[in-house]
Amino acid sequence: MAKIKKGDTVEVITGEHKGVKGVVQRVDTKSERLVVAGANIVKKHQKPVQAGRGKTQAGIIEFEAPISASNVLLVCPKCNALTRVGFRIDADGHKTRVCKKCQSDIE
Ligand SMILES: [Zn+2]
Repeated sequence: MAKIKKGDTVEVITGEHKGVKGVVQRVDTKSERLVVAGANIVKKHQKPVQAGRGKTQAGIIEFEAPISASNVLLVCPKCNALTRVGFRIDADGHKTRVCKKCQSDIE
């Protein structure tokens, strides 16, 4: 079970984009990388593309590049603190994410 899910609010805790808060847009569980809105924006130069009669302008496109899941902490929706995610396992084996700061369940 992933600690960070799509839709979570996280804060970048290390690197160039330290302190940036954003909502997780995409999670790649295999590589443990995630895309956070507004964080790790990279610029890419776009070559002019021949499209029909017109020609699109060459320019710079910006997009959010994935960052390592280990570089972010969850912003707990209950206590608003930056926290690591723990797990609580019920008697029936059901795993629930919990905030390690306030011990609240996180959906
Ligand atoms: Zn909490």
